[in-house]
Amino acid sequence: MASNIPRVKMKALEPGVRNRNFEVFLKGYTKEEAMAEASRCLGCKVPGCREGCPVNNDIPQFLAAVREGDFAKAYAYICERSNLSEICGTVCPHEDQCEGHCIRGIKSEPVAIGGVERFVSQWARENGLTKLKVKASTGKTVACVGSGPATMACAQILAAKGYKVVVYEEKEYIGGVLAWGIPSYRLGREVIDDKIQALKDAGVEFRLGEKISDANELAKVYDAVFLGTGATVPTRMGIPGESLEGVYTAAEFLSKINLAPISEDGRRHFDACGKRILVVGGGNVAMDAARDAVRLAQAEKVYIVYRRTEEEMPACSEELEHAKEEGIEFCTLRNPVEFMGENGRLTQAVCAVMELGEPDSSGRRRPVETEERVTFDIDTAVLALGFSNDKEISESTEGLDADKWGCFTVNENGRTSIPNVYAGGDAVTGAATVVKAMKAGMIAAKSIMEQLKEEQ
Ligand SMILES: Cc1cc2nc3c(=O)[nH]c(=O)nc-3n(C[C@H](O)[C@H](O)[C@H](O)COP(=O)(O)OP(=O)(O)OC[C@H]3O[C@@H](n4cnc5c(N)ncnc54)[C@H](O)[C@@H]3O)c2cc1C
Repeated sequence: MASNIPRVKMKALEPGVRNRNFEVFLKGYTKEEAMAEASRCLGCKVPGCREGCPVNNDIPQFLAAVREGDFAKAYAYICERSNLSEICGTVCPHEDQCEGHCIRGIKSEPVAIGGVERFVSQWARENGLTKLKVKASTGKTVACVGSGPATMACAQILAAKGYKVVVYEEKEYIGGVLAWGIPSYRLGREVIDDKIQALKDAGVEFRLGEKISDANELAKVYDAVFLGTGATVPTRMGIPGESLEGVYTAAEFLSKINLAPISEDGRRHFDACGKRILVVGGGNVAMDAARDAVRLAQAEKVYIVYRRTEEEMPACSEELEHAKEEGIEFCTLRNPVEFMGENGRLTQAVCAVMELGEPDSSGRRRPVETEERVTFDIDTAVLALGFSNDKEISESTEGLDADKWGCFTVNENGRTSIPNVYAGGDAVTGAATVVKAMKAGMIAAKSIMEQLKEEQ
């Protein structure tokens, strides 16, 4: 097989167009493009891509089926190990996972496995294959807490096997981070809506606006409980001026924008947000916040400030490039030490100029504060500094073990210290990825079924 076939480039909206709307900007492959890209697979005897995939999808077989134009077969391969394939095909950090292990990537660009997966899953959705086939009722009931990808994956398996699933979600909408966090220009809302509809059609009941504090209360009523409560507590800086009007956590900022309707002009409106917006942080969440900000009608200037250099930024390189192309200004080796305001409203961020010191425990060079200060004239600041776990359930539920960070402790089957209570996703690992949450939800569903069958 020729080694120099270039990767099929996915069509995308131009930066100057896409930063003016919330439309999905990577347009996906056509049938012909997906087949051509799948043909670049070298069919390695020991497929690194499979090793790199957190759910070990059978990628070589999947790509071979696409190459033959048998998309139904390709979809079936993916569904063996993944039940959120279009979401994963669209938002997984492929460069660190399957594509990062593709042998083609050594000399040229890796096979665009994510892009091909996205094409096949979209094809499956458009051809009615994402509807669930539901078995006769088992008479057993399972409560899931939270409605993010961990619960979606768990609920899908259980509902299809005839278990009655009731999802308790504290918010008024379904989807967890998929709904409030991941912007619609990266993940089209029709993808999430299709999944939610499939779950509803399979009999999953969603009770919105219901916050659960004590898992034992549910464990008394349901045969089993799954806790997919995510990592929802935003990290704050603890610096003066943080409570000024105009300073938001990334969760507040992103949900205000991502949950708002799209207007006729293709934009979302967040009127309380100002014109000069400074996002603090260097991860993917910071990129999402900045890219959301730049798309707001009133945005004139959007900065990202980060305390190390671009080299140490945890955001994936693609996200970083997209953010730059869209006109966001990166200010590295800067860290806010104070937010200033007038009449309670933010007007300036005072930032320390940083230097890099010796490597810290993460292996990255430690940022060291100098005496020098720079000031940004801004009216909005967004803190994208990470998330931790809410300890309410672990502290209110007798017998439920969690670590010091509030992450539930589970065994390899996703079972907690309470026999019929399971957990998975960010609630167990801390903030991670969709595919890892999905995997945990699927493992827990299988374990719940085994336990309930044994008890029969
Ligand atoms: C802005 C942003 C962008 C991201 N982008 C990506 C990406 O591109 N690719 C990727 O792989 N990962 C991404 N991630 C990470 C990924 O979204 C998460 O790892 C994933 O959503 C975790 O799924 P989960 O189901 O465990 O939790 P969540 O998605 O957080 O869902 C948890 C749900 O539980 C609900 N809940 C919490 N406590 C209770 C309670 N007591 N009672 C009732 N309901 C409760 C919450 O309201 C929430 O709806 C991103 C994260 C963020 C914040």
